Amino acid sequence: MPQPKIDEKKCTNCGTCVEVCPMGVFEKGEKTAKVAKPSECIGCRACEVQCPEEAIKVED
Ligand code: SF4
Ligand code: SF4
Repeated sequence: MPQPKIDEKKCTNCGTCVEVCPMGVFEKGEKTAKVAKPSECIGCRACEVQCPEEAIKVED
């Protein structure tokens, strides 16, 4: 099961991952994005590629 992990030290809460994830895995939080629905991840890596802070790693 692929799982996205957010490095909260790098995340600026920009919302890009919320917009690009086709499965709605992320939601905006107070200070950083959150992985709200980890079981929905299909491992496409759009989030990892498009996060401007390189704050997301998708683990297999
Ligand atoms: S795209 Fe990256 S920096 Fe932006 S909210 Fe998501 S994890 Fe944070
Ligand atoms: S790998 Fe794809 S499905 Fe999984 S969280 Fe990132 S954008 Fe969403």
